[in-house]
Amino acid sequence: LLVGDDLHRSFGPTPALAGASISVRAGEVVAVMGPSGSGKSTLLHCLAGIVRPDRGSVRYRGTELATLSDAGRSALRRREFGFVFQFGQLVPELTCLENVALPLRLERVPRREAERRAGEWLARLEVADVAGKRPGEVSGGQGQRVAVARALVTGPRVVFADEPTGALDSLNGERVMRLLAGAARETGAAVLLVTHEPRVAAYSDREVVVRDGRARSLEQVA
Ligand code: ATP
Ligand code: MG
Repeated sequence: LLVGDDLHRSFGPTPALAGASISVRAGEVVAVMGPSGSGKSTLLHCLAGIVRPDRGSVRYRGTELATLSDAGRSALRRREFGFVFQFGQLVPELTCLENVALPLRLERVPRREAERRAGEWLARLEVADVAGKRPGEVSGGQGQRVAVARALVTGPRVVFADEPTGALDSLNGERVMRLLAGAARETGAAVLLVTHEPRVAAYSDREVVVRDGRARSLEQVA
């Protein structure tokens, strides 16, 4: 589904990626682990078409991302990818329901339909009760579940999650991860998950370790 091959990327003199390769098959949950500064986020950003690699290729369903225009890459991100970050990054002025409906509104889904679907996703993530609240009025765990709902509402084929549980205590972290992995399994979305926590990585089918900008796949039993 998504293949990164021999990716290199430097910021100034220091290489963040130095020949990282990784592939994600449809529907699988892959955990990306490794020390701080090893290049995990940069790898995710290259695969998502947010950062352009200096060298190497990223192919999504056979299409080399570098051959797309900037507009083509953003359209691909909006339609096919979902994103969850460590700190939800919800729009503070919007209610949680409006936040989840936003990606649909950007795709020109009418408001009522968008909010109906957003409401369903909030319920699936067990946060229907915060629909009318603003992100500043909900707990960290609730906010992350809203962020997961927002990432999944468009029916993405790949969800990129960079330490989605990093700001949560272990109980809430596991709950978010259980719901994320469950929702992804139901919808058939692949998940590329960066995490430091073995208990979170345990929800993946496979772990990839990034060290010094290189990725190594540790095949393990699902
Ligand atoms: P962490 O676990 O702390 O999130 P990481 O594995 O995600 O770390 P990256 O964020 O990919 O690591 O960073 C890899 C290297 O690239 C680091 O040395 C970092 O300082 C550098 N780097 C990453 N992004 C940028 C940027 N936008 N500008 C300059 N340097 C950057
Ligand atoms: Mg990072």
